[in-house]
Amino acid sequence: MERKQFELGDVVQMKKPHPCGTNAWKVIRMGMDIRIKCTGCDHSVMIPRLEFERKLKKILSRAGEDPQS
Ligand SMILES: [Zn+2]
Repeated sequence: MERKQFELGDVVQMKKPHPCGTNAWKVIRMGMDIRIKCTGCDHSVMIPRLEFERKLKKILSRAGEDPQS
């Protein structure tokens, strides 16, 4: 299985959407634990890195990419 690469500021999709109906989370803190913020309601959660990698479905947008270009 391919290891998913993610960086601070990336917007990711998880296997389960947030109860608010949004399934786009922004990575706002990296470390032993990852903090992600729901882009729909601004609720943030901290989860262990391994658990985050398991629940991560895909990367929606990269922090380094300029959507205007
Ligand atoms: Zn939400």
